[in-house]
Amino acid sequence: MYRIASIPGDGIGPEVVAGALEVLSAVSKKFGFEYTVEEHPFGGASYDLHGSMLTDETLEACRNADAVLLGAVGGPKWESLPHDKKPEAALLRIRKELGLFANLRPAKVYDALVSASTLKEEVVKGTDFMVFRELTGGIYFGQPRGYDENRGWNTMVYERYEVERIARLAFEAARKRGNAKVTSIDKANVLEVSQFWRNVVHEVHKDFPEIELVDMYVDNAAMQIVRNPKQFEVIVTGNLFGDILSDISGMITGSLGMLPSASIGSKHALYEPIHGSAPDIAGQNKANPIATIASVAMMFEHSFGKPEVARAIYDAIEQALATGVRTADIARPGELAISTTAMTAAIVACI
Ligand code: NAD
Repeated sequence: MYRIASIPGDGIGPEVVAGALEVLSAVSKKFGFEYTVEEHPFGGASYDLHGSMLTDETLEACRNADAVLLGAVGGPKWESLPHDKKPEAALLRIRKELGLFANLRPAKVYDALVSASTLKEEVVKGTDFMVFRELTGGIYFGQPRGYDENRGWNTMVYERYEVERIARLAFEAARKRGNAKVTSIDKANVLEVSQFWRNVVHEVHKDFPEIELVDMYVDNAAMQIVRNPKQFEVIVTGNLFGDILSDISGMITGSLGMLPSASIGSKHALYEPIHGSAPDIAGQNKANPIATIASVAMMFEHSFGKPEVARAIYDAIEQALATGVRTADIARPGELAISTTAMTAAIVACI
C-alpha cells in the first residue's frame, strides 16, 4: 500500500496532477497494487484558504506520505506578496523541511518527438541520461553571503557528507541502469571546493569499481551536452552547476511540458514536473500532462522500487506519442492539438 500526498497547487497544476492520478489508477489495476492519495492545499490555493502557501498540516501530511506529487505553484495573483510569502519561498521550504538533497532530472528524447528539439535529429536521437544535482548545499546556502555598495559575496562550501550522499545515489542509479557511466562535473582547475568534490566522488567510487567514472569541467560539459548528448548516461554535480546544466539537458529534448523531476532525501521524496503553473493556459484543458505522468513513473523507480511499473508508464507515453497525438506545446504548425484529458486518455489506453 503506497501513501501518496498530492499537492496540485495553482494554474495548470490541478489539471496535470489529475491526469497523472488517472495513470496511477491504470497501472495499479494492471500491476495489482493498492495506494491512497490524500490531497492538500499548497501555494496560492493554500494562501487563499489559510493565509499561508504551506501550512503545517500540508507539511505534516507530506512527511507522513511515502511520496509527494506536486503540480506547480504561483501565478500573477500572488506575485506582489512580500518575498518570504511568495510561492517560491514555499517551494524552498518544503524541499528543506523534507531534507530533499538530490534533484534528479532525466534528459530523454522520445523518438516520436526528435523533431521538437532545437538540435539536429542525428545529434539528439537516442539521448537518455539523468542529471543528479545536489540541492541543499553549495553556493546557494553557504555563509557568509551578502552585498553592500561596493562588494557582493557568496561562499561555495561542501561538507564531506553532502558530496558522499549525492555521489552514492548517482553510482547506485548507474548500477541500476546496467553499470552506466557516471560523469562528475566540477571546476577543479580553478576552485578548491571543486577539487574537494572530485576527491570525495573518487573515494565513493571505490565502492563501485564496476562503474566507469569520468571527471569533466563544467565549461566543457556545457559544450558537450549540446555537441554530443549521447555520450552521457549519469551526470552528478553540485547545486550551481546542476541548476544550469539540468536546464540545458532538459531543453534539448523539446518541450517544458515533457520534463519530469524527482527530489530525493534520505526519508522523503517529492515528484513534480519542471514547468510552472502556466497561467496563460490554465483552466483551458490545454496543458501537456506528460511531465507529471512521467514524474509518477520516477516515483515508482526511486521511491517504490518498481522499475517495471515505471517502464510501463514510459512505454505508454512513447506509444501514445507514436500514434501521433500531440498537445499544443508539442504539435507542429498545422497539426491538430488535443486536450490534457485526451492526452491522458491516450496514455491510459496504452497502459
Ligand atoms: P511556466 O513553466 O509556467 O510557463 C512557461 C511557458 O511554458 C508558458 O507559455 C506555458 O504555457 C508553457 N508551459 C509550461 N508548462 C506547460 C505544459 N505542461 N503544457 C503546455 N505548455 C506548458 O513558467 P513561467 O510562465 O515563467 O511561470 C508561471 C508561474 O509559475 C509563475 O508564477 C512562476 O513563479 C511559477 N513557477 C512555478 C514553478 C514550480 O511550481 N516548480 C516553476 C517555475 C515557475
